[in-house]
Amino acid sequence: MKDKIHPKYAEVTVTCACGASFKTRSTLCKDYQVDICSVCHPFYTGKQKFVDTAGRVEKFQKKFGGQYFKKAEAAKPAAAKK
Ligand SMILES: [Zn+2]
Repeated sequence: MKDKIHPKYAEVTVTCACGASFKTRSTLCKDYQVDICSVCHPFYTGKQKFVDTAGRVEKFQKKFGGQYFKKAEAAKPAAAKK
């Protein structure tokens, strides 16, 4: 390896918000936290789950949930008559 161009590469422990943790190696050289990992990600669990940041899902449901899409559905036949 060439001298003085390689960053430090140490073993770190990554801890997830779900409580799972695993060891890996990183140039960050310190333990760190992640919001999602392969233990709790919906792709691996097969269960739907919202990864919500600052209530954005709630905001979306407030705006577009309930009657919003039903109204759009009801408006379609009227538009087709023209
Ligand atoms: Zn996790």
